[in-house]
Amino acid sequence: EAKKQGGSKVVVYNDTINIKNEEKLRIETRLRKAIKEEKIEVYYQPKINAKENIITGVEALVRWTDEELGFVSPDKFIPVAESTGLIHSLWELAMKKACFQVSKWNEGRLEPLNLAVNFSPKQFQDSSRLIKQVVDILSESKLSPAYFEVEITENILFDHSAETIEALEKLRNYGVSVSVDDFGTGYSSFSYLKTLPVDNLKIDRTFIQDIQEDYSNSEISEAIITMARGLRLHVIAEGVEEEHQKEFLLKNGCYHMQGYLFSKPLSKQDFERFLKENY
Ligand code: C2E
Ligand code: MG
Ligand code: MG
Ligand code: MG
Repeated sequence: EAKKQGGSKVVVYNDTINIKNEEKLRIETRLRKAIKEEKIEVYYQPKINAKENIITGVEALVRWTDEELGFVSPDKFIPVAESTGLIHSLWELAMKKACFQVSKWNEGRLEPLNLAVNFSPKQFQDSSRLIKQVVDILSESKLSPAYFEVEITENILFDHSAETIEALEKLRNYGVSVSVDDFGTGYSSFSYLKTLPVDNLKIDRTFIQDIQEDYSNSEISEAIITMARGLRLHVIAEGVEEEHQKEFLLKNGCYHMQGYLFSKPLSKQDFERFLKENY
């Protein structure tokens, strides 16, 4: 039947679309079940102040290994969750687990850990519900808003309505901070940033990877660090994998870092071991 519609290109194209839809549907079905059964895990990646050599907090990252599909990367299932509406219950599950966990870790610490959670732009479509959920979960888990950080990608700030900006302002008034994730990959407008309700910039790891041994290819990272300082924003570098990248960042006044050089995202148990052994 596809052949009748015209050449082999059409057949290949249709097959690709069908496989994609089929895969998406399978992910959706299995993910729905996994969320319901709470079979989604949260991993924790340390955020380090490399100047002081202390841990300042963690980023919560969801992990899902399905009985049928095996390990599925967040880059694959988060878009499915976003397009099917599952993102709300996925976020709620991850948020609860992470807040209760970090609150528990903080009981035994002199310097409490910050917790950063990724938020999807879709969640801001019903912002009053979202704000209520954040407030409720933080108070139930007894995690102070001062130690909580919302991570959003920069496009949300430029694509979205006044309602999103207002929601972020409300969250900040409540005491949480706002970070722009993957900074530099979207429609960054440096001058616009000044008026937006944000506290931190996370330099995307593509720029960090561009920092070469000879320091010749690092203008963008340098520019972001300088700009952030001018705007009085905190800056953190993502995806720091190599010692020379760390040295470059320290030299340029960016002390906060996250990446495999320090640690990969860790399960609860592995993170506890990491804390004990290092910080
Ligand atoms: P992200 O928020 O930018 O998270 C950082 C990603 O970079 C994580 O991938 C982390 O494992 C990876 N990473 C950290 N350090 C390094 C490094 O040194 N080198 C390299 N190559 N990679 C590093 P992950 O966990 O696969 O997550 C991918 C993306 O999925 C996240 O990017 C985030 O946008 C999204 N995501 C993860 N968990 C959630 C969640 O709970 N909610 C939402 N909405 N999105 C999430
Ligand atoms: Mg993030
Ligand atoms: Mg990022
Ligand atoms: Mg990302």
